[in-house]
Amino acid sequence: MQSNGAITSAIQGLRSELKEYPEVKLVAVSKTHPIEKLMEAYAAGIRDFGENKVQDLIQKAQVMPSDVRWHMIGHLQTNKVRTLLPHVHLIQSVDSQKLLSELQKEAARQQKHVQILLQVHIAQEETKYGWNVYELLEFIDKTDLTQYKHLQILGLMGMASFTGDQTQVSAEFESLKDLYDKLKTKHPSCRGFQVLSMGMSSDYALALQAGSTMIRVGSTLFGSRNSNL
Ligand SMILES: *Cc1c(COP(=O)(O)O)cnc(C)c1O
Repeated sequence: MQSNGAITSAIQGLRSELKEYPEVKLVAVSKTHPIEKLMEAYAAGIRDFGENKVQDLIQKAQVMPSDVRWHMIGHLQTNKVRTLLPHVHLIQSVDSQKLLSELQKEAARQQKHVQILLQVHIAQEETKYGWNVYELLEFIDKTDLTQYKHLQILGLMGMASFTGDQTQVSAEFESLKDLYDKLKTKHPSCRGFQVLSMGMSSDYALALQAGSTMIRVGSTLFGSRNSNL
């Protein structure tokens, strides 16, 4: 547990590191942490919070101030889309065509436009969700993305391998940046891309060097989570 004031000073520390990168947005990943900690971050100026479970995001959204922007960063099941949509600002973890279709259908039903990122699998671990790079290229080649009229596909999200090998982590981030640039320049439906979400507590410095526009930082700000999460 971090003591009083620790979250504020961690935020200030991170902000000063981010001065070199004025375009980069910070999402404070508050999953598993109690409201008091989120409120300290809020008081320190944080408005973007990331949660990985629909139920937690909704519960927190109901008690936190209404100007918070909620980011869904965990795997999203299609049967949870309906309850999530009224609360979410950006769904970063869209990892399948099935989920895209469900989001389009439900966003139309709720008469909203929903901002999303496509999650790309760049890590070596097999457990992580996300499109494989080739699948995504193939999908985008053969799909008219404008059919998802109620979705704004703003860019890509990815997670690097959990390894101390910085060369590998950098290479994974660079591969995602290459994909992002390629889609943005070659595919008319991706021209509006503006978000490349990559970098967490252990690797945001490498992600920033590789061209990240959004970092998702949890434990550096809020302290460690329970080990089973
Ligand atoms: C938990 C999580 C983070 C933040 O991880 P930290 O190591 O605590 O900074 C970032 N992105 C995703 C998708 C996560 O699930």
